[in-house]
Amino acid sequence: MNINENEISEIIKNVIAEMGQNKPQSSNRKQLGVFDTMEEALAEVNKAYTLFRHYNKEQRENIIKEIRKLTHEEAETMAELAVKETKMGNVYHKTLKHHLVADKTPGTEDLECKALSGDRGLTLVEQAPYGIIGAITPSTNPSCTVICNSIGMLASGNGVVFNPHPHAKEVSCYAVDLVNRAVLAAGGPENIVVTVKNPTMETSNIMVNHPTVKMLVATGGPGVVKMLLSSGKKAIGAGAGNPPVVVDDTADIKKAGKDIIDGCTFDNNLPCIAEKECFVLNSVADELISEMQKNGAYLINAEQVKALEDVVLVEVPPKKEGDLPKRVINKNWVGRDAKKILAEIGVNAPSDVRCIICETEFSQAFVQTELMMPILAIVRCDTFEQAMDMAVKAEHGNRHSAHLHSKNVDHMTAYAKAICTTIFVKNAPSYAGIGFNSEGHTTFTIAGPTGEGITSARSFTRQRRCVLVDSLSII
Ligand code: NAD
Repeated sequence: MNINENEISEIIKNVIAEMGQNKPQSSNRKQLGVFDTMEEALAEVNKAYTLFRHYNKEQRENIIKEIRKLTHEEAETMAELAVKETKMGNVYHKTLKHHLVADKTPGTEDLECKALSGDRGLTLVEQAPYGIIGAITPSTNPSCTVICNSIGMLASGNGVVFNPHPHAKEVSCYAVDLVNRAVLAAGGPENIVVTVKNPTMETSNIMVNHPTVKMLVATGGPGVVKMLLSSGKKAIGAGAGNPPVVVDDTADIKKAGKDIIDGCTFDNNLPCIAEKECFVLNSVADELISEMQKNGAYLINAEQVKALEDVVLVEVPPKKEGDLPKRVINKNWVGRDAKKILAEIGVNAPSDVRCIICETEFSQAFVQTELMMPILAIVRCDTFEQAMDMAVKAEHGNRHSAHLHSKNVDHMTAYAKAICTTIFVKNAPSYAGIGFNSEGHTTFTIAGPTGEGITSARSFTRQRRCVLVDSLSII
């Protein structure tokens, strides 16, 4: 086939134009799915849902394929935006998190139909959409959660309205725009995923109480989970954790030292599953600390621990008369680099330092508080039973995540039974619990309080039964 120069230039022009359609927004373009008011957002998603509810699985899967593609392409852009806006975490790990979401968040294949066939006919149980889901997302994994929730919720046939964390609104709106670009590219309706430009508690209240919204999903700390669970609607709550890691004397200590620091420092300890405190048997504690130091941990002394407490914790006045003042995390230091935190207490650490470690008592604040900073308190224990008991107490009944380094199957079993967490990782960094370098799908919404666990498309469905009596059982 002969093609002349004009035809070639026409083809090139078309290809460039097509590429441009999927590019991130120029500064002036209105972001897709992003509205000035929650009322507008709700009206638009409602409109879109009247079309989307007729989309079959294949059409929904095509949309999801497109979301995966754009998420891969724009992973680094979103990671950079998130770090710039929230000042938390790091670009490299956030980029990896986006690729993980794109690759390992289940799509429509997660939905199952159950068939009961017998003497009295055929009954089907199908996983149907709820309708429109209201989702609240955190500042710690903002765009990852928007994209992960969108994939699961669209796969199961729902529309979504997000009320993202106000401190991560730019990157969350970017992610909503990305999802809408993907939906349009795959032939889907406009505004099946929406949000507001300026999310607040007020927009959250409007969303939660609006009759259009049939299901609520909260990913965040205890406040938001409590609020959603008292809404009177079906709600999924993915709340706070304080994951302990236990190391016994059968563990591969060299590997444990590296794995714990890798997990604890991933995105500067922002993931809710990340190692937050460590309980180690006395007999292997020195070796473990030395291995941690070889892997970028900086050991501080008791005096420096006191100084660090004054930096990363702030006192809040008592709520009631007679109560003592409480120390809570200083949000300015959440997700910040270890070197920057160390500089605040006058330590000029080497450039390869990525974690601060210290030996403390069980009652010390770094053990008891979910800091979300690359700071790991280490408590020495005499026996495995003592370590396990302390780990259970430090987890505070969140039922979130716990980790263990051991080759003793009895220890694995006893600890798993005692701590009752949604995620329990053995002999790997904590992120193995969300499918990073491990088997199993990923999620950024781990629903401990309401029990859905590692959420996926099927978590966002309602069961519907379809019964045919005395027919279609064909045997
Ligand atoms: P956060 O609780 O401050 O905010 C989460 C979201 O809830 C935000 O959108 C915020 O605006 C909203 N919110 C908070 N209190 C609210 C209230 N009373 N009413 C309505 N909305 C409210 O959390 P964060 O700092 O962004 O994220 C960190 C916390 O989230 C940690 O505790 C972490 O463990 C948890 N988290 C849990 C998961 C999980 O899957 N279980 C995932 C990520 C983060």
